[in-house]
Amino acid sequence: MINLTRRSVLAGAAATGTVAFSPNFTSPAHAAAPAAGKQATGIYRYKVGNFECTSINDGTYLVPYFDGFARGVSKDRIVAAMEAAYYPQGHFVFPFNPQLINTGGKLVLIDTGMGPTGGPQRNPNVGKLTEGLSLAGIDPKAIDTVIVSHIHFDHFMGLKTADDKSAFPNAEIKVPSIEWAFWMNDENRAKVPDMVKGWFDLARKSFAGLDAQLTKYDGGQEVAPGITSIHTPGHTPGHMSFAVASGSARVLIQSDLTSIPDLFLRNPDWQLLFDMDPVQAVQTRRKFLDMAAAEKAPVIGYHFHFPAMGYVEKDGTGYRLVPGPWMPVR
Ligand SMILES: [Zn+2]
Repeated sequence: MINLTRRSVLAGAAATGTVAFSPNFTSPAHAAAPAAGKQATGIYRYKVGNFECTSINDGTYLVPYFDGFARGVSKDRIVAAMEAAYYPQGHFVFPFNPQLINTGGKLVLIDTGMGPTGGPQRNPNVGKLTEGLSLAGIDPKAIDTVIVSHIHFDHFMGLKTADDKSAFPNAEIKVPSIEWAFWMNDENRAKVPDMVKGWFDLARKSFAGLDAQLTKYDGGQEVAPGITSIHTPGHTPGHMSFAVASGSARVLIQSDLTSIPDLFLRNPDWQLLFDMDPVQAVQTRRKFLDMAAAEKAPVIGYHFHFPAMGYVEKDGTGYRLVPGPWMPVR
């Protein structure tokens, strides 16, 4: 029978050398610590077969509610979905989660966050990738391959340092060929609204000077050992997702297929404002989520809440995301 008394616990701790607290419970009042006033940078390790992967939180945007985020969906329905997810009142919550994959032979980074200056809005709550890599013990110079899922600024601005140098100077930077052809085309830029013209310009600025590192890829290719690209168009023409496989283990990584899950995974038929071909985006989203639900494979979402891993289940006409348990690395 186990009989735990305070004395036996303390004696056991002392015997194993793990006394980490003072037994003096009557010590005088503690001084208050100053509030940190900012969130910690998150890293979370998970295994895929022999691969050790790390989910890195680049930070989170709180975006005040605006109309039209889901095209044609009433404000009441959108606000109800936000409230069901316990968002702070009147705000969307947008996390950004690049993924680092250590295959044993290669270090691969999928997407790069907003960059050290905090993206186009210089938001101090994002741009934490470099700090996250440091917490993970990874020197950016050691990264072999950077894979960009699609050419939207929250995925590529981290390619540059604050002084506009290559953030990953020894890496091959892989960009979807369809994306490159679209976003580097002046005629396409001329046709879009001013806000989206700004996105074209951010792409040109972030990729400038990186030509020697740049290569293109298509869907259905092994873009790095054990990592296969999956063409998932709709959000953008060349938007890519990934299957990461080692041994019999497989994880699906998607960037903007659902955007924030509380809205577009729950309601897969809602058309995201930023989906360039919204009808195709809905079809792609359902196809991918059906595959994930059937496989019961862990799904990583760039815009899921950290650590950005969960399991997709069918739920009525939509899906629900069951967060994966926080696990030790095995
Ligand atoms: Zn995104």
